[in-house]
Amino acid sequence: MIDKYEDPFVRISSMIGGDEYLKVARSLLKAEDATDEEIASSTGLRINMVRKVLYDLFGKSLITGIRVKDERKGWFVYRWRTRRDEVEHFIENQKKKITDRLQQRLDYENASDFYHCGNEDCPRVTFELALDGMFKCPTCGNVLNLKKNDKSKKAYSKKIDEMRKDMQQIF
Ligand SMILES: [Zn+2]
Repeated sequence: MIDKYEDPFVRISSMIGGDEYLKVARSLLKAEDATDEEIASSTGLRINMVRKVLYDLFGKSLITGIRVKDERKGWFVYRWRTRRDEVEHFIENQKKKITDRLQQRLDYENASDFYHCGNEDCPRVTFELALDGMFKCPTCGNVLNLKKNDKSKKAYSKKIDEMRKDMQQIF
């Protein structure tokens, strides 16, 4: 399987789509400018699967396709090539998207007070919702109390840190 000595292009492909992506990525690295069919025969994957993976990687700008005429068959085929220079850029983007989302959650936690009735089955409610319901739980009707959300805040901060470390380990 995949290890940390594997090329970053292969590792990021595997992270995007799993085993099929891993196989296609390895094949692309081994034989530059291969066609769909050549990749299919070298990986043992069905041609439709190979194309699906290639179009996805192409859409993510991780590979490029060159349209060339197949002299033998007389029609045009695509020859695919990795864009390994784009891998770092792609990872940076993903990292930014995920940490932005987590940061938004953390900001939300920081900006809001939450109320809870103490009943494990009931969700917590925001101050606005608690006020609307006269500080009675909208689910069970018990009295709502201010709930410290330090735990959630810590959890989000921790996730953000982990995310940053995880993404750095790709290189
Ligand atoms: Zn309740």
